[in-house]
This record gives sequence, C-alpha cells and structure tokens, in this order.
Amino acid sequence: MKIAIIGAGAAGFFTAINLRELTSDVSVTIYESSSKVLSKVYVSGGGRCNLTNSFEEIKSLSTVYPRGEKLMKGAFKLFNHNDTYNWFEDNGVKLVTQSDCCVFPQSQDSQEIIDTFLDLSDEFGIKIKTSSQIRSIEREAEGFRLILDNTEQPTDIYDAVVVTTGGSPKREGFNMLSSLPLDIIDPVPSLFSFNIPNDPITDLMGTVVENVSVKLQGVKSKATGALLVTHWGVSGPAILKLSSYAARILKERDYNAKLSINWVAESIEKRVHAELTYIIERNSQKLLSSIRPYNLPSRLWLELLKRADVSEERRWAELGIKGINRIVNVLTNDEYEISGKSNFKDEFVTCGGVSLESINPVTMESKECPNLYLAGEVLDIDAITGGFNLQAAWSTGYVVAKSIADKVNNC
Ligand SMILES: Cc1cc2nc3c(=O)[nH]c(=O)nc-3n(C[C@H](O)[C@H](O)[C@H](O)COP(=O)(O)OP(=O)(O)OC[C@H]3O[C@@H](n4cnc5c(N)ncnc54)[C@H](O)[C@@H]3O)c2cc1C
Repeated sequence: MKIAIIGAGAAGFFTAINLRELTSDVSVTIYESSSKVLSKVYVSGGGRCNLTNSFEEIKSLSTVYPRGEKLMKGAFKLFNHNDTYNWFEDNGVKLVTQSDCCVFPQSQDSQEIIDTFLDLSDEFGIKIKTSSQIRSIEREAEGFRLILDNTEQPTDIYDAVVVTTGGSPKREGFNMLSSLPLDIIDPVPSLFSFNIPNDPITDLMGTVVENVSVKLQGVKSKATGALLVTHWGVSGPAILKLSSYAARILKERDYNAKLSINWVAESIEKRVHAELTYIIERNSQKLLSSIRPYNLPSRLWLELLKRADVSEERRWAELGIKGINRIVNVLTNDEYEISGKSNFKDEFVTCGGVSLESINPVTMESKECPNLYLAGEVLDIDAITGGFNLQAAWSTGYVVAKSIADKVNNC
C-alpha cells in the first residue's frame, strides 16, 4: 500500500514511523509545506520539548482536554502516556519526569527528539518531501491524488492519506480539506494570558501566587494553580488553563470579561473568616501590614488591603466585622476587567479544526471517505499546558498507524 502523510510535524512523523514499525508492507511519503520538518517540536517547551505528562495529578481527562476528552479516552486504550514514555526510552531517548509531572528528554533538548525521528525515518525508508505544500486532495476510484501548490502535476495515486497538518488560527488554514466530507469547527486561539489594562495590580509584575482559583463571570468552569502577575495583566498555569476552558466564549466576547481571583483558593468563606480570626487572636496589636494571611507575597497583601479599602496602618484588633468582611471578600472574590489577550510564547494551540463527528473515533478514519485518516492538532482536540498537546499527537498518530497496519496485515 502507498500511504501519503500531509504535514511533517509531531503527529505526521509519529504516524509514519509507527506505521512502518507495525508493517513493512507499506511505502510512506510525508509531504511538508515548509523547508523544515518538526518546527513546533523544535520550539516546544522552550526548546526542551515537554513531550508528555505522568498524569499522576490528573483525575479526569476532561480537566486537561477541554475538547476531545472522549476521543482521547479511547485513544489512550491503545497508546497512553506510559506507552509514550516507553516508546521514547526504547528508541534511545532518556526521559525525566519533573516534580510538576511534566516529562522532558533528559538532554533538555528538543533536537534529540527530531534527530530520533529523522534516524528512524531513514531506517524505515520513509520519504520526506519538504517545500511541498498540498493544495487539495482529490478522490479517485483507485485512491487519492494530491495537488501541490507549486505544480499542476498531481502526485501518483495513494491508497490512503493521513492529514496531520496541525492547527490553524484561521478557517482558511483548512481550505485544503474543503473538497472532502469533513466538518470544520471554526478555529479560535487557546492558551493565552489576560490583559488587565490600567489596573494597579500590574505594578506588581513578577509576583507569583502558588495556588489561586480563578473564574470568569457567567462561565461555569474554574481553574486552579499558580498565577503570575505580568506588566500587562495576569498569566501562569491557572490563567492559561482558564483561557483554554473558556476559549470559545472569550472569543465570542471579544476577550472582554470579568475575572474573579480567589487568592487563597479557598471556596468556603467561613474558613477564611476563621483564618483571620485566628490571626487577630494572636496578633491583635500588630499592624495589618506586618502579618500576611496565607503567606501572601507582601506587595500583593498591601495592594489587596488597598482594594479592600482598609488602611495597612491599622492594628488587627481594630478591624471590626466590616473590615474582616471586606478582607475576606477581596481574598476570595477579587474582580478585574479583562480587556484583550496576549499570546503565551511558550505554547500556543488552536481550539477547533476537523469535527470529531466526522471521524470514526476508534480508527481516526473519515466516516464518509474511507482511507482518509486524521491525527494531531488538525482535529478538534486541544489541551492545557503540561505535555498534553504533544501526547494527543502521539496517541492519535499511533491509532492511525495501527488502523492502517491492521488493514494492510488483514489484506
Ligand atoms: C511555541 C510552542 C510551544 C509548544 N510547546 C509544547 C510543549 O512543550 N508540550 C506540548 O505538549 N505541546 C506544546 N505545543 C503544542 C504542540 O507543539 C502541538 O500541539 C503539536 O506540535 C501539534 O502537532 P501536529 O503534528 O498535529 O501539528 P504541527 O506540529 O503543527 O505540524 C503540522 C505540519 O504540517 C505542515 N502543513 C500544514 N499544512 C500543510 C499543507 N497544506 N501541506 C503540507 N504540509 C502542511 C506544517 O508546516 C507543519 O509542519 C507547543 C506549541 C507551540 C506553538
């Protein structure tokens, strides 16, 4: 069988190599529009490539895959994060798992992943055609022909085509698929930080609070984790997670929304009251400025006192019920007006792409166009940061490889 893979990224290479590992009865050609392969893998994880996650802290896949959770659950039955770990180690890439559960190559160098893929491709005789942008895929009785951008001459016939062209921030990015029976969900950005212009909080840039909980007014989902104050607003894992959960709704609102920050990640207000009462009992004559509840960074604590309209020069004993309530409120429900977003330079993915309704979730094959497969970010699957996006590329790529190999081996 002749197989064409469109897109030489993580999903494209992983599909190609695994396909050849599973069967030798295929010839595989990868078409890549740019002059370089695996460009995103190269920059991933700040050049270190956070290639998966130990999933130790993940109770439900829905918390990491806001889109594609069900499909990923199925794909994990065939190829999960442990399989990824073993696959890379078996192929000579030593890995390390950080305390935050993110997995990287021990070399801390994404180039090692690229070299491994290129060596394996070479070993398996996988053909790689760079500077070969595919404009369209034409279905014929005997198979598929690909139409390249730079020539009117179509390619030879392929028995199966795998689309691994990645995400696109614009719908036009999916034009190549327009002649095929695939539904496209409008793409919108995910994983971005929030702009809070003209708010004094931004004077605290560089401040990190390890465990906050954040939510948007009128949106169900909330996110927890570390928050970083930046010179334009807020970022950090909690914010990036929330941007992913609310990617579509934030786009609809043109990135204007009310953000509520619970600085102490404590949803039961009574407990915060109790914490303040405990401080008052032990420090009644001390100034508010000198004792920081929940060990909050001192500049942030002073700013929160201002936001609560309580003077930092007061003593804890002088707070009174109203003062305590105002502080509890600012600690648990501190509101900011988001106006605009900023890209998170370490990772950027799109939410949207080929609808999962268009494919068989067990094989990743188009429901209406047999022998057309899809894997990776071109599908409407995306994740929060932490190695989960690349894991989706490995899992879906492996499923496609196995589906094609099973077909070939059963012929
Ligand atoms: C800066 C950055 C850092 C990241 N860091 C991480 C990380 O550490 N961990 C993590 O899990 N995820 C990370 N991600 C996300 C992750 O890189 C992507 O989710 C993943 O690369 C998607 O793989 P893919 O193969 O589906 O698509 P891509 O890697 O985007 O590959 C698609 C390929 O197809 C090619 N192509 C597109 N259209 C055509 C066409 N018509 N003809 C031929 N070729 C075409 C493209 O040029 C590209 O090479 C990061 C993303 C970015 C941008």
